[in-house]
Amino acid sequence: MKKCIAWLVALCLCLAFAAGCAPAAEQTVEPTPEAAQPTPEAEDEGLYTPGSYEGEARGFGGTIKLTVTVDENNILEVVVNEQAETAGIGSRAIEELPATFVQANSAGVDGVSGATFTSNAMCEAVQAALDQAMGGSAEESAMADGVYTGSGPAYGGDVTLSVTVEGGAISAIAVESSSDTPMIGGEAYKQLIEQVVSEQSLGIDGIAGATVSSNGFLTAMSEALEQSGANVAQLKNKTVEKRAAQTDSYESQVLVIGGGMAGLTAAIEAADQGADVILLEKLGVLGGSTTRSEGYVMGAGTQFQRDNGVEGDTVEAFYEDIYSVYQIEPLLDAGLLKKTIYDSTDLIEFLQENGVVFEKLVAVSAFEPRATPRNHCTEGKGGGLTSALYASAVEKGVKVYMNTAATEILKENGTVVGAKATNQYGDDLTFRADATILCAGSYGGNEEMMKELNPNILAEMVKGCGDGDGFTLAENAGAQMMLLDYPQLQYYFYWNGVPDLPVYPASAIRPVHNVLLTDGVGQRVANEADFNFEFIEKVYYSGQQEGYCIVGQAFYEQYPEVCEAGLGKTFPVRGDEIAYTADTVEELAEWAGLDPEVLCATVERYNELCALGEDLDFGKDAEDMEPIEAPYYIMKLPAIVTDGYGGAVINENAQVIGTDGEPIPGFYAAGCCAVPQMSCVNYYGCGTSLLTCGVYGRAAAQHACSLLG
Ligand SMILES: Cc1cc2nc3c(=O)[nH]c(=O)nc-3n(C[C@H](O)[C@H](O)[C@H](O)COP(=O)(O)OP(=O)(O)OC[C@H]3O[C@@H](n4cnc5c(N)ncnc54)[C@H](O)[C@@H]3O)c2cc1C
Repeated sequence: MKKCIAWLVALCLCLAFAAGCAPAAEQTVEPTPEAAQPTPEAEDEGLYTPGSYEGEARGFGGTIKLTVTVDENNILEVVVNEQAETAGIGSRAIEELPATFVQANSAGVDGVSGATFTSNAMCEAVQAALDQAMGGSAEESAMADGVYTGSGPAYGGDVTLSVTVEGGAISAIAVESSSDTPMIGGEAYKQLIEQVVSEQSLGIDGIAGATVSSNGFLTAMSEALEQSGANVAQLKNKTVEKRAAQTDSYESQVLVIGGGMAGLTAAIEAADQGADVILLEKLGVLGGSTTRSEGYVMGAGTQFQRDNGVEGDTVEAFYEDIYSVYQIEPLLDAGLLKKTIYDSTDLIEFLQENGVVFEKLVAVSAFEPRATPRNHCTEGKGGGLTSALYASAVEKGVKVYMNTAATEILKENGTVVGAKATNQYGDDLTFRADATILCAGSYGGNEEMMKELNPNILAEMVKGCGDGDGFTLAENAGAQMMLLDYPQLQYYFYWNGVPDLPVYPASAIRPVHNVLLTDGVGQRVANEADFNFEFIEKVYYSGQQEGYCIVGQAFYEQYPEVCEAGLGKTFPVRGDEIAYTADTVEELAEWAGLDPEVLCATVERYNELCALGEDLDFGKDAEDMEPIEAPYYIMKLPAIVTDGYGGAVINENAQVIGTDGEPIPGFYAAGCCAVPQMSCVNYYGCGTSLLTCGVYGRAAAQHACSLLG
């Protein structure tokens, strides 16, 4: 009888839970109507077996593990034991919800506004613990045969799955629709499907490097399986035994660590030179920042430029343009920069030969020195680049070990002889090689390193995904390191994402005419038409992390969708409002936390210049100068950090330079873990980074192979 009542109540709880932890503006502690309250009968019998029970579910930053303590009818305590949620966002749910569960005596409570993901995971984990307290067991979960459909929020939109249940077991899963990157979500879904079908469990690990896609997949699976009558909480709690860790060793002539642009080009080049190559990739999907990038690669004097009507561009002209910007950097190595540019023609050809397809050519600005169309835009963006190079590497015999992280560079008598590594099973792996090429990317995704190296950037909108391993591995192996106090930085116009927006003439990538842009204190600091590149240095070095865009009625009439796009909306993850409109500039300032006097003076001066028909301050074209009049609109311009800068010092052969100033034998580095001498706070623009990765990835492989017997 106790079990019967328990299962009735459990069903209610499941229904409550299926509705999810809806984010609420105000945190409420009232149990939802469907949530289980002990019935008199249940009170007689006791709903739970008193004790402490553990539950877990996947949150935003990883698995959330908690303990729920119950007496016969009540939740007495909820304690979170393990979590890695984002500070200031998910952490709010971690702090607030335990008391809410107790007060509501239910897993079905409203979530914390702005922390939906974490809230849902906590509800799920509490529910899983309560299921155990009610004596649920896997045997009691039966799935009816049929085909069920479920959806879950994944990268870029929902992933929809169809799940076939045959003979009471999951026999097939198909991705019906997904807007995920094929190289991330696509690859992750293949691995997840295989695991779920073979383990008949939803308690599997997500795919490292594809957390959002993995979470979306598991949510879609839950939704589909709920329709079959499955006890989803039990399926999630069914742990999958991992095989025991083991010790193995491998040998190759060339060992490449990291499978982004630098690593893949290095591996392919080494294979082309006839070497036996192993590539280690830490995550379950390839490509780090490369896969997430726009896939723009700069090059000059290429056939693709000529095919697209750009005649006469040369590497010399390209070098002159980039040098005019980068020469301000005291740490610049002009020789290394020159090699990057001079090898660009060949790199573009190499990429095409290895299956990369370029779909168009663009310039990053309408203004010199960035006005020549040199950006070769990859079909399928960064994912297209990685998948083409990965396929080519495998075809050329490169052995790729996924989920395998290098943990230490091995050195014997001052020479690098390979690396130690481990994988998802915790294996102790040794990879010995004549040459080791470190291409483990940057630190853009490592919050601690970001804070330490770039304290001005507090809340970037877009970030690279390097975790800093490249830096640690190099430094521990004796590399000379250069840590720079600026990352690869641009500013974000949220309206870039507005579909079908008319193309703004002044910049190939940013709509900037007829707008007034200010720095973080409300002062105009640059010609808005060339804003992105002129603005970066001024804002960054002034210690502000973002700026503002201000427009008036005239702009609104031209581009209402731009103004409307941000009003009443909040930035994903950060949760603060994007834009605001008001009848006075003072009100705009108040909303933005700016000094009203400063902002009013800025708008007044701008309008004076518009009336004059000449931008005496920054030389903006008079055609793009439109007075800013009420009603006013203000929009925030947060930082985009597309990768960190800095890393190991290298020479023209991509050999890593040791602390004694000499190349470390057998050790090479390329890509974002080795770009300190080719970086500038005024980034020359999208396309130069992937170019540098490819040029030095290949240079490393060429030099390493020239030394092989
Ligand atoms: C949104 C976005 C857009 C961008 N757009 C452009 C663009 O259009 N053009 C451009 O030039 N640049 C662009 N960039 C920058 C560019 O993508 C990066 O600078 C570049 O991809 C870095 O390549 P990489 O090979 O050095 O590192 P990554 O591509 O990050 O690859 C490093 C790889 O090493 C792996 N790894 C890390 N640690 C270990 C370990 N211990 N063992 C084994 N493997 C490990 C990682 O998992 C990863 O796969 C963009 C960046 C972002 C974030």
